[in-house]
Amino acid sequence: MKGRVALVGAGPGDPGLITVKGLQLLGSCDVVVYDRLVSEELLKFARKDAELIYAGKNLGESLNQSLINEILLQKALEGKFVVRLKGGDPYVFGRGEEECSFLLERGVDCEVVPGVTSAVAVPAYAGIPVTSRWFSSGFCVVTGSKADGSSIDPDYIPKKGTLVIMMGVSRVEDVKRAILKVRDPGEPVAVIERGTTPSQRVVECTLEKLDLCVRENGISSPAIIVVGEVVKLRNKLWNYHDTLG
Ligand code: SAH
Repeated sequence: MKGRVALVGAGPGDPGLITVKGLQLLGSCDVVVYDRLVSEELLKFARKDAELIYAGKNLGESLNQSLINEILLQKALEGKFVVRLKGGDPYVFGRGEEECSFLLERGVDCEVVPGVTSAVAVPAYAGIPVTSRWFSSGFCVVTGSKADGSSIDPDYIPKKGTLVIMMGVSRVEDVKRAILKVRDPGEPVAVIERGTTPSQRVVECTLEKLDLCVRENGISSPAIIVVGEVVKLRNKLWNYHDTLG
């Protein structure tokens, strides 16, 4: 039997946001390799005899990427069907392409099942649409911490439209400084922590107070920062979601 791997997007936190295809594969695979941001609830949908391997943070360390690649390869070479379950969408700051190309280069079949990315779903659950016919003709998703350890490059910040920053709260001062090179200090901002989960928290401020707001409220990762006029729509659109406590 030839093994294979599916990179499956688990969605942003609410287990109901996995795709039908993702759930079907999860229910039929031999091995699940899952990340820190994946809802544990989803693991109940795996087969009782499936092997579950945690690839997220352990004692402050994440399994390093080459070790994860090796585990996926090894299991597939043993003839197993492996679901690599990743938070949100596998190809949005998820290193999905590194895992997929590693496997394909070694002759192992690998497919991707896209997921609902937190970049869009987390603002939505907080009542913020990333576009609006009246307030924003586009949105841009940027990382607050790059692989080389540096923060946002201001060249990635558009002058207009909605700005969604991922992995930005741990370096919020640098993030604010970079955005202020391009955007107005009075722009509305929302910071959403653990979005779409029962412990979701949302705080609002203006761009110039972003770092203060994150620190005073003790916001920590995972969190998303949204900058732009659409944040104001929260007043109209936010209703207490069923799944949120
Ligand atoms: N592939 C994922 C993103 C991985 S990068 C996706 O498509 O959603 C991890 C970053 O995603 C976090 O630092 C945070 O900025 C964001 N994130 C993921 N889940 C989140 C959640 N439930 N609430 C807020 N931010 C989240």
